[in-house]
Amino acid sequence: MSDRISLPHLLYQLLCDAQKLYGPRLDPSFTVDIETFAPVGRVAHASMRQPDLTKRRYVIYVPMGTVETNLGTASFAIGHEVIHVLSCVGQPWTTFAEEGLGQVFAFDSAARRGHWEISPRISSPYWRAEWLVSQLLRIDPTAIKRVREVEPCLSKVTVDQLLVQCPNLDRRIAQQLTTRFPEGEDNVSQPR
Ligand SMILES: [Zn+2]
Repeated sequence: MSDRISLPHLLYQLLCDAQKLYGPRLDPSFTVDIETFAPVGRVAHASMRQPDLTKRRYVIYVPMGTVETNLGTASFAIGHEVIHVLSCVGQPWTTFAEEGLGQVFAFDSAARRGHWEISPRISSPYWRAEWLVSQLLRIDPTAIKRVREVEPCLSKVTVDQLLVQCPNLDRRIAQQLTTRFPEGEDNVSQPR
């Protein structure tokens, strides 16, 4: 394929894009690294564990060869994790808002690099989360950026904070956005 880009460069681009759209990182003193692993078996997803608070470091794990094989898949997988890097430092759980924004940004990142083949959407709480966030962004594309000026950790944003920034948002959607994402679901950040 013609797109030649290294994983660290792609990570840098995605971090810049995400901050432009959704506001700065909560704690930019944390380093963000990418490590590759050799996929075992059929399933090999990108993932990110909780940040190492002692070393002040995030590590995003990507299956070896991802960026060389398919820039769309790499942008999708890393894009989702980049949203977590923006939003939290040691937050033990996430909300539909954070996971949904991860999906929205992942799809946009893949699409912006000309790779649409990343679809289909995964059928799981991620689909619901993505739909909820797209409702918010449809009303106001700057809503996330503005609400993060009040509460930089997206998973700590409250219903009232959302409604102050986006008064036209249906309260039921605001409630679902601020609901805790199902435990154990955040280990699938790409649809295949
Ligand atoms: Zn996630």
